[in-house]
Amino acid sequence: MKFSKRVVVALGGNAILRPKEKGSSEEQFNNVEKTCRQIAGMIKKGFKVVITHGNGPQVGNILMQNENAKDIVPAMPLDVCGAESQGQIGYMIQQRLDNLFKEMSIPYSVATIITQVVVDKNDSAFTHPTKPIGPFYTEKEAKEFIKKNQKEKWIEDSGRGWRKVVPSPEPIGIVEKEAIKALLEKDVVVIASGGGGIPVIKKDGGFQGVKAVIDKDLAGERLASDVRTDIFMMLTDVPKVAINFGKSYQKDLDRMNLSQAKTYLKEDHFSPGSMGPKVKAAIKFVESGGEYAIICSSKQALDALEGKAGTRIVA
Ligand code: ADP
Ligand code: MG
Repeated sequence: MKFSKRVVVALGGNAILRPKEKGSSEEQFNNVEKTCRQIAGMIKKGFKVVITHGNGPQVGNILMQNENAKDIVPAMPLDVCGAESQGQIGYMIQQRLDNLFKEMSIPYSVATIITQVVVDKNDSAFTHPTKPIGPFYTEKEAKEFIKKNQKEKWIEDSGRGWRKVVPSPEPIGIVEKEAIKALLEKDVVVIASGGGGIPVIKKDGGFQGVKAVIDKDLAGERLASDVRTDIFMMLTDVPKVAINFGKSYQKDLDRMNLSQAKTYLKEDHFSPGSMGPKVKAAIKFVESGGEYAIICSSKQALDALEGKAGTRIVA
């Protein structure tokens, strides 16, 4: 098979676990398989694909398991839980995609790379933690945690309960970049930087994990720029990026150029915790020389690549 273009595909939370589901392995395998079908279709069409994905619900469940069993087995820190989630989700994608390759006579293999992403220990995010993670607690429980560990920051999360918040620093570089590139040269479909990657800081000439969460779309952009892909595609649960989102006069966009995207971002059309980082990542990708970015529904990935669905962000 001859490849036409390289594309990094970032899978949103919905591609793996939908909001009303409990999170059983059957549910997650089923969702993953549907998305993998789209991805196998892209590969069949000649696109060289690198996959990345979110891990919010999965790492939340792992943290809860650790918290509830901490008197029986030692609880693992956030970086180790992040690595576990990359392994868990990577396995699901890897197996289902490989099954589809056999079914569709695609002669490639798939591999998941446990990925560390370097962040700056002086990133201002470390003094202003913003990203809620893990289970919800009552105010009383949260105050107990704060008493035990003064360094932790907790917030009341949109009327749903109290949650711990951690810093969300900028991704600077991917530690396993050369390994990923080498696999791509061998036509291996790589799954990397899951959950935004495991955040690490430089220490004593090496790396060390930190308690933080990197935004998966910004980390996906880092991956796309580092492995020099032509296209950066973010699959989510809405068909297109909109301006005046949620209003009666909402307008879905087929296309945005850089200056439009920046203007809309400034005018607050994109929520900071959801569409905002996607548009920012798209802008960054195109500004660093990528051909275009696509934001679309995980059900329409193939159509979007053909220009028949989703929103394209172009120079
Ligand atoms: P993912 O798991 O794919 O990252 P997010 O929830 O973070 O999903 O982002 C997708 C969500 O962004 C959509 O479900 C939608 O509710 C929200 N959103 C906020 N602003 C916009 C906008 N301007 N256009 C489209 N969707 C938007
Ligand atoms: Mg998101």
